[in-house]
Amino acid sequence: MANFEFIEKFYPDRYYDSIFDIDFDLLKGNGIRGLLIDLDNTIIPRDEDEVSEDLRYWFLNLSKKGFKVCIVSNNWKSRVSEIAEELGLPLIARAVKPKKRAFEQGMKLLKTNKNQTAVIGDQVFTDVFGGNRTGLFTILVVPLSDCDLFYTKFLRKLERIILKRIRKEK
Ligand SMILES: [Mg+2]
Repeated sequence: MANFEFIEKFYPDRYYDSIFDIDFDLLKGNGIRGLLIDLDNTIIPRDEDEVSEDLRYWFLNLSKKGFKVCIVSNNWKSRVSEIAEELGLPLIARAVKPKKRAFEQGMKLLKTNKNQTAVIGDQVFTDVFGGNRTGLFTILVVPLSDCDLFYTKFLRKLERIILKRIRKEK
């Protein structure tokens, strides 16, 4: 029998088509001040490395609104640190999400607590599950590309099942 409480750990608090659709005034109203943001397929497609003007502006706007931001990525390649550097943002690489450690490191870095911190990412099993079990507000976005690692492809199949369920309930 399915344990409903366990399944809920895979549910995001919010689900958007893209980072550009996220309502940051709403987040601010909920007391969120710090954002732990995934990189691959959340802000940039996994197979690309170019920082678009739209993305640059999006981050600029976040800082204008008073949000503190840290990139949290399971990736370890130099591409990730180059992108973070280009955006002028702190980075936690090799994050081993869904483990809690990187999220906790991120909060320490941003000097925010659990009630003030949101996770933004494209994967249910790393970003959402990890954020939820750390006690953070979680935001899921549709991945920017289909270019995924082998194990990610497998997880995506499970992800679709969960997302179907979320849509049914809403
Ligand atoms: Mg990702």
